[in-house]
Amino acid sequence: MEERLLGARFRYLNQQLYTGSSQDAARLFRADPAAFHLYHQGFERQVRRWPERPVQRIVRYLRRRPASLVVADFGCGDCTLAASVRNKVHCFDLVPLSPRVTVCDMAKVPLAAESVDVAVFCLALMGTNLQEILGEANRVLRLGSYFYLLEFVKTGPARPGPAPGLRLRPCLYKRR
Ligand code: SAH
Repeated sequence: MEERLLGARFRYLNQQLYTGSSQDAARLFRADPAAFHLYHQGFERQVRRWPERPVQRIVRYLRRRPASLVVADFGCGDCTLAASVRNKVHCFDLVPLSPRVTVCDMAKVPLAAESVDVAVFCLALMGTNLQEILGEANRVLRLGSYFYLLEFVKTGPARPGPAPGLRLRPCLYKRR
């Protein structure tokens, strides 16, 4: 029974995070820190059932690259990423699950412009103010940096016309 209640509470909180802005998420967890801990308990239970923790992919990705790359982990949770690589990792979340966390809304992180090489959103790009959040990542990234992985899931029938809002542009290589 307790297990099922926890699952239900987690799904409810997850839905709040996916249907509101990052500012709403910040208000929600500031007003009710217990909700954050419930959310993380539910998250842990969920992820344990998956064949792989997605953050492990990012760990492998970073280990294949120079440890000198500076990383910003937006929505870092328990800071598994920072604990698993040699890189300098700035950890941002709404509530500190670890002393490494800088508490803030990911739409406004206390980093200077063009100060990091890799921006990570691992199961954390959830606010409806997606453009503002990605704009913040863009601000702190150095030129030539890049996002690693975006995976999209179809959630409804196809609609005619172009998708609103976002635009992806090709990566153009220098002619040699
Ligand atoms: N990246 C971690 C945790 C994913 S859970 C991992 O892969 O294990 C999603 C995390 O994003 C949660 O810890 C949640 O608190 C955080 N989060 C959600 N909205 C946020 C916001 N607006 N600002 C900062 N962190 C946020």
